[in-house]
Amino acid sequence: MKIDGLHLLLTYECNLQCDHCFVWGSPWQSGTMTLQNIADILRQGRDLGTVEWIYFEGGESFLHYAVLQSAVKRAADLGFQVGIVSNGYWATDVDVAVTCLRPFAGLIQDLSISSDLYHWNEKLRQQTKNAVAAAEQLGIPVEYIRIAQPEAADAASSIGQIPAGESAVVFRGRAAEKLAARVDHRPWEQFTECPYEDLREPGRVHVDPFGNVHICQGISLGNLFQRPLRDIAESYDPDLFPVIGPLLKGGPAELVRYYDLSCNQKYADACHLCCAARSQMRDRFPDVLTPDQMYGVCNVTR
Ligand code: SF4
Repeated sequence: MKIDGLHLLLTYECNLQCDHCFVWGSPWQSGTMTLQNIADILRQGRDLGTVEWIYFEGGESFLHYAVLQSAVKRAADLGFQVGIVSNGYWATDVDVAVTCLRPFAGLIQDLSISSDLYHWNEKLRQQTKNAVAAAEQLGIPVEYIRIAQPEAADAASSIGQIPAGESAVVFRGRAAEKLAARVDHRPWEQFTECPYEDLREPGRVHVDPFGNVHICQGISLGNLFQRPLRDIAESYDPDLFPVIGPLLKGGPAELVRYYDLSCNQKYADACHLCCAARSQMRDRFPDVLTPDQMYGVCNVTR
């Protein structure tokens, strides 16, 4: 497996608690990277030799501003392309936003600002406009990322990283619990593939504050604080990997059959069924289906 991007979940904490959030971010979540964690992850990324991009996201990355600032500098010094994802809550006016962003000017190649009706009560919240205006003043490449409402049938879905512009909501993480009821459901047997992640060659993976390397949120390929990332990448055999093997063979429907799981008759999408199936198997694969944060369990440090 060739990894070209590491997306560091700097923290599971967020000032918001959006219904669509894949990682169950909230003010009550726990788990934040230390500077030492970040130095270790970046060193392992550099040693891999294939990583081009480092993203800092969350949760809300700006909640731990000093850590973020130091981490971005370190990543840039190591020669990575660097991106940050934020909801822009800190940009209370353009001057404040310029002050917040100035340390990142020249160091980051992408600032993705989330602005939609999940994060705010209007599609383009004033703070997000301030953040974009400040980034433009400072010459920082910036874009909005937006997730459409569940009923927006024409919104495009994407594989892997959420692209600039508007994307369709996916019923994963908190969205499976909060939003799935707003769309028509289909029989579970129809979900015969994973439509949103390349489970053979994902390109980018997410690393959380506990060292878990997620191929999809809540499916860990290994823990890079316990085993080198290089080993995790080189030994990855998707067809034999628990959970991934059946997903590749026949999607979440095969997951249900293969592990003899219970399920409802109908689901909103493949991820909705996948999350329901995986939540039944956590005791069986505790090192893979982890951490608790990705399954909506708050105030834990596992
Ligand atoms: S089907 Fe499962 S593995 Fe694939 S993107 Fe959805 S939640 Fe992730």
